[in-house]
Amino acid sequence: MGLRDKVATIVGRAQPFEVLLRAQHRVGSPWLLAITYHSAASPERTVRFDPGVVDTSPEEFERQVAFFAKHFDPIGVTELANHIETGAKLPKAPLLITFDDGYLDNHDVVLPILQKHNLKGTFFIATDYIDSRQLFWWDKINYILKTAKVASITITYPQTVELKIDNASSTEAAIKKCLRIVKDTYDLDLVKFLDQLTELTKTELTPTTERKFADELLMTWDHVRRLASAGMDVQSHTASHRVLQTLTPDNLEHELHRSKTVLADRLGHRIHTVSYPVGKPLADVPHVKEAVKRAGYTLGFSNASGVSNRWSFDPIEVRRMAAPYGMRPDTFSGYMTLPKLAATSG
Ligand SMILES: [Zn+2]
Repeated sequence: MGLRDKVATIVGRAQPFEVLLRAQHRVGSPWLLAITYHSAASPERTVRFDPGVVDTSPEEFERQVAFFAKHFDPIGVTELANHIETGAKLPKAPLLITFDDGYLDNHDVVLPILQKHNLKGTFFIATDYIDSRQLFWWDKINYILKTAKVASITITYPQTVELKIDNASSTEAAIKKCLRIVKDTYDLDLVKFLDQLTELTKTELTPTTERKFADELLMTWDHVRRLASAGMDVQSHTASHRVLQTLTPDNLEHELHRSKTVLADRLGHRIHTVSYPVGKPLADVPHVKEAVKRAGYTLGFSNASGVSNRWSFDPIEVRRMAAPYGMRPDTFSGYMTLPKLAATSG
């Protein structure tokens, strides 16, 4: 446990944190808190796919939601967009419970828990995958390398790298390397990269099996519509979930517009918010911020970027805290009480 976690745990365990939270709830919190989840699932979910997206178990999420309901005023991004656009007041202790990507457990597990506690959540959807019924690229990379029929491969695109995949730890390192390539390579041809991995590993992943896996993992449009009609906020997580910093100007415009148009068509409501795939802050890429504004978004969210000051924050870069899997309840409470402790990168 690092120093920050230790401090958070002590704060979370101590009686004064309850007093502090109650006081904040009464007089007004200085923070605009937002938490990022992806998937609320049991550990078996992670065996063949990406374990990194499971941020909470159903039981743990229920405990966290009960804590949110007691100490905060959860809002959706529509309330926050109204605040920016019309000056509508925020509640005393605003908190955004957000889910990125579009995993099926968002509908099956998360929605009933939020409804039970009468809270609103926000769901950011990467629209291409809901349409195409293909695995998210990070799940696909995990699957391909974990089911490889060879002990090593040498990729040649976008660079020549030898990847050993002969045991669990070398496979994990190879997965990390491939994810890094997708996250960092400017103008990467993702289909070419993934096809190369499938071919070299000799894994069996036909379009039919991929569709079957996608149906196990991802929501359909019916699920997404049910979230919206249950009163949840459903907004954009771009179309193909590429890191915006790695896109050419044309692709960047296209990504931001496509998901916005598709969601508006499918759901019949206005799309005013986008959460950035992988969540990297945009401070050093003003052209991306400009593109987000030009595409007509009022709000944009980064991830693992900390917490925003409720009185002065950049609407195109609202910060969010990641909710890591297995965090002790007292550490979690401590982070929520003193959110400045939250990790600022990850
Ligand atoms: Zn995402």
